Amino acid sequence: MSATSQAVQIQEHGGPEQLKLVTVSVGDPGPGEIRIRHKAIGLNFIDVYQRAGVYKMPMPLNLGMEASGVVEAVGEGVSHLRVGDRAAYASQPPGSYSELRVMPARTVCKLPDAISFETGAAMMLKGLTAQYLLKKTLPQGGLQAGDFVLFHAAAGGVGLIASQWARALGLQLIGTAGSDAKCALAKENGAAHVINYNTEDFAARVKDITGGQGVKVVYDSVGKDTFEKSLECLRPFGLMASFGNASGVVPPVAPVILAPKCLYLTRATLFTHMATRESTQAMADELFAVVESGQVKIHIDQRYPLAEVQQAHRDLEARKTTGCTILTL
Ligand code: NDP
Repeated sequence: MSATSQAVQIQEHGGPEQLKLVTVSVGDPGPGEIRIRHKAIGLNFIDVYQRAGVYKMPMPLNLGMEASGVVEAVGEGVSHLRVGDRAAYASQPPGSYSELRVMPARTVCKLPDAISFETGAAMMLKGLTAQYLLKKTLPQGGLQAGDFVLFHAAAGGVGLIASQWARALGLQLIGTAGSDAKCALAKENGAAHVINYNTEDFAARVKDITGGQGVKVVYDSVGKDTFEKSLECLRPFGLMASFGNASGVVPPVAPVILAPKCLYLTRATLFTHMATRESTQAMADELFAVVESGQVKIHIDQRYPLAEVQQAHRDLEARKTTGCTILTL
C-alpha cells in the first residue's frame, strides 16, 4: 500500500520560517516497524533544537518526536502491537509532525483506554523524562520523602509534570519560573516553593528555603543561564543533573569546579533510558499509573492546528507557553 500524508519538513536549519507543510508518501512497515495514523502530536523543546541546529540533523528532516494515534499496519516481528491498537510514543527518529508515518515499533506503547489521544500525545516525551529524572537520576543514597530538589522551568511541559510527580513522591520541589504567574501555576501543581528567577537570586532563595543546607539534586534544563548558579544550590555530594539547553548550551566545564563540594554531574538524556523495549515499557507503565491515579494531571495549555506549527515554535521559544502544547489534526 502507498498513501500520502501531510508532514512538517525543514530543508535546512534555521528559524520557525523553515517549517514547511509538505506531502510525503508513506509505504508499508518493514520488519520491526508499524504504520500509525496520528490523532494528536506533542510539541517539545527538542524540536526547536533540531530545527535551529543546536542538534545537527540530516536534511531534509521531518520534525517531531511525540504523538498518539491508531496502529494501521504492523511489520514482521512486532508482537506488542496490533492493527487497531490505540498507541502513543516518544521516539526517534523524528517525524511525528504528520498525519501518518511508518516508524520503529520499539518505543511505541499501547495507550490505556482511560487516557485520551490528546493527553497521550502531550505526555509521552515529557512524562517519560519526568519519570527517569525523579526515579533514576538520583544522588548517592537516593531521594527520600521530605528531601529538597531544585527544578528549573517548573511551569513548562516537563516541569509541571515533574512538580506534581515530586509531590506524589513526598519531595519538596523548589520550582523556578520566569514570571509570577508561572510560579503560581507551578505552586498549584505541587511545587513546595517557587522562585521567579527573572526577579530573584535563586541561589540565595534556595539557601534560605533549605536553612542553608542546599538541595540534593538540581534538575536543570535551562542550561547556559542557570548552570553555574545551580551548582551553588547543591549540598555536599549533591547531583547536578543537566538535561537541556533552553537558554543555550552550557560551555565546557572543568571538573575542578565540582571539587569544593564533591559534586556529581550528569548530562542526562531520555533516549539512553529508552534503549530497550522493556525499559521503555517499564517507564511508560509508571507514567500511565501516575496519570490514571490522578496524581499527575497533564495540562494541555496550548493547541495549534498542524498548519500553524510555525506559530507554535515561536510561542514556545518566546517562553509564552505553560504546561504541554499539542498540534491538532
Ligand atoms: P518547556 O515547556 O519547559 O519550555 C521551555 C521553558 O524553558 C520555557 O517556557 C521557559 O520557562 C524556560 N526558559 C528559560 N530560559 C529560556 C530561554 N532563554 N528561551 C526559552 N525558554 C527558556 O519545554 P519542554 O517541556 O519541552 O522541555 C523542557 C526542557 O527539558 C527543555 O530544555 C528540553 O530540551 C528538556 N528536555 C530534555 C530531555 C532529556 O532527556 N535530556 C527530554 C525532554 C526535555 P520560564 O519562562 O519559566 O523560564
